[in-house]
Amino acid sequence: MLIDSPSWNEAMRLIGEAAILLLLFLVAFSLTLVLLTVVSIKMGKFIFPRLLKPGLLMMEGLVRAIWKLLGIDDKELTAFSIRLHNMMMKKRFEAVPPEKRAIFLPQCLRSKECPAHLSDEGLICMKCGRCDIGPNIDEVRADGTKVFIVPGSTFIKRMVKRYRPEAIVGVGCLMEVKEGLEMCDRMGVVAMGFVTLRDGCVETAMDWGDFKDMMTGKITPLKLANLIELPGECKVPEPTMK
Ligand code: SF4
Repeated sequence: MLIDSPSWNEAMRLIGEAAILLLLFLVAFSLTLVLLTVVSIKMGKFIFPRLLKPGLLMMEGLVRAIWKLLGIDDKELTAFSIRLHNMMMKKRFEAVPPEKRAIFLPQCLRSKECPAHLSDEGLICMKCGRCDIGPNIDEVRADGTKVFIVPGSTFIKRMVKRYRPEAIVGVGCLMEVKEGLEMCDRMGVVAMGFVTLRDGCVETAMDWGDFKDMMTGKITPLKLANLIELPGECKVPEPTMK
């Protein structure tokens, strides 16, 4: 029988050894990534970013598990991934002309009494003065950048298909931004993430000054690398069309 033959046993032994070697390599690689992220955070600059970004994408599950074992807040790693992504995209983003960019603002920035109505192009701000979107939206639109207030998760894909922007800025909570950046990576669109300041799902806030600096390229790499605080996840319900 083939399965009792010496060649079969030899093949099984080789496969087993290869699997163990692969496992050891993956664990060692993940440990290296954890070390690099921790050192990067401590030093306030990215060590080997070109290794870190694809490495974290490939080994995210294992790296997160090691972080948890070390007692490090899971959100730290998410924030780190966004900072790293922004740093690596900065030059490419700034090379895209404003009229070929699109900004997606989360609806949770609005006031609870927001009178904006829902349209095919997202929520339309009435500039009622109840939140900071009103006084800022025209300024960020002035150079031709498209700005949308996002009513729900499928909206961004729809607008990307419709307008084909070459660069996107997504504002949102930590997880929204992370998932948005991953989606843009998959679509091959240059993207930057900007995390809201305040925890919570309604009446959140963002630093419009830093945001405009990021849009105009005035933000320094150091500031960009340290933009993100650690707010919570957003669970705000999607509005319905009236
Ligand atoms: S300023 Fe615009 S987005 Fe903000 S609450 Fe008023 S209508 Fe809504």
